[in-house]
Amino acid sequence: MPNAWCDAGLSGRFWPLHLKPYNNELLSSWLVRLSRAYGMEASRFGASIGRYSAFWNRDVDKGLDDTLLQSLMDRTATPPARVLETTFSGYRGFPIPELYSNGLSAWILSIGLRDGRRHRPWLQYCPYCLQEDVDPYFRCYWRLVFVTVCAPHHCRLLDRCVACAAPCNIHQVPRDADAITCCYRCQFDARRSWAPALDHTAGRHRVMQFQTLLVEALRQGWYPLSQAESVSTEEYLYVLQQLGRLLITRSRAQELRRGFCGYLGEPYFEPSFPASRGRALEVLSVADRFTLLLLLGWWLDDWPDQFVAMCAMARLTRTDLSSHFSFPPDWYEEAVGQVARGRFAGMKFASYGAVRSVDSGVMHQSL
Ligand SMILES: [Zn+2]
Ligand SMILES: [Zn+2]
Repeated sequence: MPNAWCDAGLSGRFWPLHLKPYNNELLSSWLVRLSRAYGMEASRFGASIGRYSAFWNRDVDKGLDDTLLQSLMDRTATPPARVLETTFSGYRGFPIPELYSNGLSAWILSIGLRDGRRHRPWLQYCPYCLQEDVDPYFRCYWRLVFVTVCAPHHCRLLDRCVACAAPCNIHQVPRDADAITCCYRCQFDARRSWAPALDHTAGRHRVMQFQTLLVEALRQGWYPLSQAESVSTEEYLYVLQQLGRLLITRSRAQELRRGFCGYLGEPYFEPSFPASRGRALEVLSVADRFTLLLLLGWWLDDWPDQFVAMCAMARLTRTDLSSHFSFPPDWYEEAVGQVARGRFAGMKFASYGAVRSVDSGVMHQSL
């Protein structure tokens, strides 16, 4: 399709081709599919609808560009709610202040912009989902930090090209490439990749269950803390962030990971940060986040008993649990209070893979 015709077509009230987003599709994916439908590079298409150059230097998936969203609603005749659902603003439970952060936004994989290019693994994928798509597209939840597996295909997600390790910069895929799934750098089609299958263990099952609960909590605004109690998703995510930091960046992180991994019978892992500065969950690889979620999902299971018992075993103090935590929710403070009062005191990591307990009726370890 000639580009002059495209540009003229894009200036009309309705675009001549108005593809709708697929179910759970990410805004970036939808925009790239639209640009391909018009035979345009995504950079040129973005510049023409965003009215500014370097369109892809911003993280459009946050959903903060009202003009862009309005334009998509109008030009593609797509209902507002459906357009918003392609962004993180469309999640009722997403901590909105995070979207406006100047640096990393918690829970969204970092694009890692450097020299005008995205160089971090900001977009994950399941090759089998892409294979099954008639017209392949990338899901919105594949950009979430706590999403690391595909439940229907029982596999771990991938976050880079398996042939050349490039991030999935779908906006840089040449317009004449066979599909949006081709690597922008080496052209390898992500649909030909193989993703690691998950073992059928209680731990893997828990990771999937935990992920499902968290994604649902983002949609609903509430997380089921226990059978009797739900709390706001925003509160829950701040607690999860606090505990995640304890496991990867705080002074006792290495000791904690060693203890927890040993207790669960998992191999010890050392998170691999791309740089010594900016050590955050949002820059970790899918492999590291998967193991981290395995530990966090287990630590927070059966709230608050498992949490309190594990804190006692790891000899975590109120200071460890509450430092750098500005506004901890009451239900977390209550559990930390139980740790401080010495509930389960006497439990300790006996050795890797085994536990010695003075209150053996309390623990329910199933791995
Ligand atoms: Zn899948
Ligand atoms: Zn590649």
